[in-house]
Amino acid sequence: MGTADGTAVLLSTKANAMADWAEALRALDPTLEIRLFPDAGDPAAIEAAVVWTEHDMAELRRYPNLKLIVSMGAGVDHLLRPPGPPPGVPVARLVDERLTQGMTEWVLLNVLRFHRQDPEYRAQQAARVWRELPAPDTAARRVGILGLGALGAAAARALRGLGFPVMGWSRRPKALEGIECFHGAEGLSAMLPRTDILVCLLPLTPQTRGIVGRDLLQSLPRGAYVINGARGGHVVDADLLHALDTGQVAGAALDVFEPEPLPADHPYWSHPKVFVTPHAASITIPRSAAPQVVENIHRVRAGRPLINLVDLAAGY
Ligand code: NDP
Repeated sequence: MGTADGTAVLLSTKANAMADWAEALRALDPTLEIRLFPDAGDPAAIEAAVVWTEHDMAELRRYPNLKLIVSMGAGVDHLLRPPGPPPGVPVARLVDERLTQGMTEWVLLNVLRFHRQDPEYRAQQAARVWRELPAPDTAARRVGILGLGALGAAAARALRGLGFPVMGWSRRPKALEGIECFHGAEGLSAMLPRTDILVCLLPLTPQTRGIVGRDLLQSLPRGAYVINGARGGHVVDADLLHALDTGQVAGAALDVFEPEPLPADHPYWSHPKVFVTPHAASITIPRSAAPQVVENIHRVRAGRPLINLVDLAAGY
């Protein structure tokens, strides 16, 4: 495959991460011939492409022998939007312990921030007010998670471990110990009115785009919190801002936006009830994620089934 002694892999992302990826992949398999985009060399030699959001999918059509595309993150919406990957080329994504750990930490941070009335205490500190607020009751603070995949299930377990009653929603029926599981449209309608803190960890697909909009927000109990660590396209910004301003939603923690970077004049930046992080909830660590990428390169070379394969029809 590729060159006489190994597989040629095209790497494409921001320069610093590209160098880390190249080092991590080479350390695992020195026979891999790593080409850093845009210096792809002979297009016919490229058999695997490891890419991130900024890479243009139309560009990947230049490589006639491409046999594998790997996303450098858990999400693949950027790879699937038109024109999508070249027909017939499988796409894999990352399922990585440290990526999952990062997201779990970010979710816990924000659930605890709202649960422990941190915004209120910060405001009191600013005004030098010494006042104890009503005791937060963990056993009564119901958390509902949209998406029970690698990230959603891990966050659900961690929250459950802290004593929160946790519910989760997926496309297909699921059973997770200690988590009340819902699926489909009916399941969502049942879960939302009982959700005090909503956490979105869905993939962005045509079915989930705009899901955190007026109807969903109205279905939450008044004063609920919204945490979005998935994709900006899940949230209808105008509807969330309206819900915040009317008190239907008491606070929001948002890591992802559409577009990114969040424009400097966006109301989220200065909204007193909104906590913004710059798509930093969980960042891929190449050293940690590289083994599964090399494994897939070896599998594709041997004609064996791939791991962490994306279901192109389902869109995630
Ligand atoms: P998975 O594919 O493992 O899980 C997706 C979950 O969403 C599954 O439970 C799936 O249901 C559910 N789902 C998908 N479509 C629907 C639908 N139409 N209705 C109901 N449930 C649905 O993804 P991950 O957990 O690995 O990642 C989730 C997302 O998090 C990524 O796609 C990415 O966008 C985002 N992300 C954000 C990061 C950040 O730093 N902000 C970092 C990493 C990821 P089922 O179980 O039935 O398939």
